[in-house]
Amino acid sequence: MAFIKLNRENFYHNLNQIALKTGSIDKIAIVLKDNAYGHGLELMAKMASDFGIKHAVVRDEHEADKIRSLFDVTLILGGKITPLDRSTYAINSLEEIANIPKGTRVELKVDTGMHRNGIEISQLLESLDLIDQYELKLVGIMSHYRSADILSSELFWQQKQFDRVKKILQDRVADIRIHSYNSAAILRSKSFDEDLVRVGVAAYGYSELDDSFDTIDLKPVLSLYAKRVSSRVLKRSQRVGYGGSFIAKEDMVVSTYNLGYGDGWCRGDHSRAYITSEGLPILGKVSMDLITLQSDRDIVCIMSNAQKAAKQFGTISYEMTTALSENIERTIA
Ligand SMILES: *Cc1c(COP(=O)(O)O)cnc(C)c1O
Repeated sequence: MAFIKLNRENFYHNLNQIALKTGSIDKIAIVLKDNAYGHGLELMAKMASDFGIKHAVVRDEHEADKIRSLFDVTLILGGKITPLDRSTYAINSLEEIANIPKGTRVELKVDTGMHRNGIEISQLLESLDLIDQYELKLVGIMSHYRSADILSSELFWQQKQFDRVKKILQDRVADIRIHSYNSAAILRSKSFDEDLVRVGVAAYGYSELDDSFDTIDLKPVLSLYAKRVSSRVLKRSQRVGYGGSFIAKEDMVVSTYNLGYGDGWCRGDHSRAYITSEGLPILGKVSMDLITLQSDRDIVCIMSNAQKAAKQFGTISYEMTTALSENIERTIA
């Protein structure tokens, strides 16, 4: 199997950068959904908690169960709803409210323009009534931005919508936490006055902001390595892999390494070879569990910056890391 190293120092560096923006680490909720963006849920949760992070966000209660003991509050974004200690649930729609068990701590997601999940602003009062009627405990109100990473006024338009929400709520509820910022929103903001930022990708070391924004110094947490399986000399004009799509121009030493699309590595387009972080092109097609490189080293680093790797495949850092199989061994370095 390939293996992953997680760089604790880089992770803490990123969290410190974000804390400079929020003013306090108490205001950071680390987003750990989808196996911590493929980094490894439990290891990242433990590191975050050791750093002093008190809030987490996960995809569903299976993820919450593995980590909620480490945090004051774990926000569960969806899935089956059972009231769990130290957890809150995001309400994604009005219809859902009637089916949530009594006493559940909930955070109301309001749709301020992304039109993905959340209740309409016009349904706000009705949803507060329903929350009362079904005896749920409202502990937060939240929204999500559709284009905080793009240089445009869209973010401000959505923030204006969310301001309306806050105004409506002020008279109705006390003691709830208010949060709308994701990584992109906090990275580009000059001031922060909410209770929490839900930070995902920036904590893992990437900013997908347009280049025109000031660059923030973030450091990738994850590096992906593969181990050598076997080596051979490829004679001039011999071919490698399925379809024989790579042809040696001269005699060369090649080795197979134990990483493939079965591990969540992108198969990509073999006619545009992926170049590893050490400058080695993948020769021919990616197999399910193997790739071939011109190298005889026992261990090679395949990717040390998922954002750079993503550019080669025409995707984003999120997809590169999230796809990585849970079965890959992860260690903290
Ligand atoms: C994934 C997610 C985030 C984190 O987004 P990043 O861009 O990775 O910071 C925040 N809030 C919600 C609701 C999310 O689903």
